[in-house]
Amino acid sequence: MPATTAAAAFPSLTPQRLGRIRARLLAWHGEHGDDFPWRTSRDPYAALVAGVCSQQTQMARVLPLWRRWMAAFPTLAAAAGASRARALRVWGRAGYPRRALALREAVRLCLRAHGSALPREQAALLALPGVGPFTAAVVFSFGFGDDAPAVDTNAVRVIGRLLLGDLQPARESAPRTLAAAAARLLPPGAGPRWNAALMEYGARVCTPRPRCGGCVVATLCVARPRFERGECAQPLRAQPRFEGSDRQWRGRILGLLRERREPLRMAALLNALAEDMEQRARVRRLLEALCADGLAWARRGRCGLGEPPRGVR
Ligand code: SF4
Repeated sequence: MPATTAAAAFPSLTPQRLGRIRARLLAWHGEHGDDFPWRTSRDPYAALVAGVCSQQTQMARVLPLWRRWMAAFPTLAAAAGASRARALRVWGRAGYPRRALALREAVRLCLRAHGSALPREQAALLALPGVGPFTAAVVFSFGFGDDAPAVDTNAVRVIGRLLLGDLQPARESAPRTLAAAAARLLPPGAGPRWNAALMEYGARVCTPRPRCGGCVVATLCVARPRFERGECAQPLRAQPRFEGSDRQWRGRILGLLRERREPLRMAALLNALAEDMEQRARVRRLLEALCADGLAWARRGRCGLGEPPRGVR
């Protein structure tokens, strides 16, 4: 949205109020913010890895995963040359392992189509596997240093509460409205610092149950009176049960395959994980699904992580 249109969309956001919000949140970040390495290195590949790592993952768990990946594959070319099994071993127990394969595939495509650099055009970036609007914005902002709003679930909470008066913005406001609010708030020339400040503020102060008492923008926030009246932000959605779920069982199968460098006999896999016929059928079914996703292989009574070794193909 052009700046003039964005300004018209939020008439109560006077230049003075906007200036105070920006100044206070940037000052808070200067004093309390964590600067994760990908936010300051201006390395598009490092930012891409961070963007993919942070999908569906809390920030506290992103840093060790990002470090592990960057230590194993410090460059785009190194990640592109990794086998699927190696990428999955480096990803480890971080969850949603299809992201590791998507990231590996994305850098392989990049290497073929763009050399060892990431493309700077949005359409080309969005065409890469595993790269959606948020990850692309992370690359533009932290990787290239552009003034692109990179809005994660924490930042969206701050934006929607401050400007729109929502308690749970992702539920109450349309994505287009939130995107316009994000564009309006972003201070020109300070995009990466601003994005980091909003993400951190949403993670530590304007949390699902916000700490309005100690908030540096409390006097400027439209949602604050609602919280003071005792209204509560409803959780976005209940997490599906993990215990006993297919997701947990997929994790068990992958965990066992990750431990083995050599192909594993199917019988050994079933004996290690299943206690009865029903569980054996479940392991077989899930292994098949893992193979279809490219996360595992099963052939001639043996199985393993990623792709089959040459002798088994
Ligand atoms: S006053 Fe409360 S709801 Fe508003 S930005 Fe601060 S912490 Fe968030």
